[in-house]
Amino acid sequence: MYYDENTVVYLDGEWQKAKNAKAGLYQQSFHYGNGVFEGIRSYQTAQGPKIWQAEAHYERLLYSAKRMHLSLDYDVATLIKLTQILLEKNQLGNAYIRPLVYTSENMGLGTESEAHLFICAWDWGQYFEQKGLYLVTSDYSRPDPASCHVEAKVTGHYANSILAMKAAQNAGYDDALLLDKNGHVAEATGANVFVESKGRLLTPAKGHLLPGITRQVVIDLARSQGIEVEECTLTREDVLQADAVFLTGTAVEIKGVASLDGHHFPLPWDASLGAQLDQLFQKQVRAA
Ligand code: PMP
Repeated sequence: MYYDENTVVYLDGEWQKAKNAKAGLYQQSFHYGNGVFEGIRSYQTAQGPKIWQAEAHYERLLYSAKRMHLSLDYDVATLIKLTQILLEKNQLGNAYIRPLVYTSENMGLGTESEAHLFICAWDWGQYFEQKGLYLVTSDYSRPDPASCHVEAKVTGHYANSILAMKAAQNAGYDDALLLDKNGHVAEATGANVFVESKGRLLTPAKGHLLPGITRQVVIDLARSQGIEVEECTLTREDVLQADAVFLTGTAVEIKGVASLDGHHFPLPWDASLGAQLDQLFQKQVRAA
């Protein structure tokens, strides 16, 4: 699914066949989760593939790397150029792009490792195929921002997402809604959450979540349409009382939530603000 015989990837200054590309087994990233990454989409437009929010994603990658003491010797413009070449080499239009910064060999916990850069891409459709998602409130909470940089996209943080997703799927749900250490709503395993209530949108404030690039796009898009958006503290009960709920993320895009913990939201998706914003979003990402 991710690569075939002909797929080309970028690895530390070289274009290589994915099937031949190698990384060591003694890296700190592999053993202790000290790596940083991005999830980016490109969309086919009349003018060719467009890397959606390219600057924002690569700025976040450099920010995450800095937070984890990984010194990456690339600037945003170079990273974008490399990604454009990667798409060309693999003849991709609608693609998912995955840059990963990982460490050199280091079995200790010091930060002396060198940083390596890997960028790959593959043809990817929808993250969730189903129409409205069935969410469950997770027993796992999001990591405490006092113990790691939750606003950075660090590989190790995803152990939490994997555990929450597995528990949700085992119980027959599509995804989990995670609370923060204070019991307030944070986000889903790989997406931010918005609640529609009396014609307004509410979303958890920054602090205990990964502030998504799509989250900001949706906030701006909603405000440009005269829709009120509030970044605030939300409880599970606030979500249960919502008219409609949706998730946002690069992979997920804008996705309606049908229910939380078996409670169905009353507003049909097509009549919701999420659906209205999704239509505008889908136009915007494909605009040349
Ligand atoms: N939260 C988490 C935990 C995520 O993994 C993602 C996906 N990167 C998001 C939110 C959404 O972020 P973005 O819109 O930047 O993709």
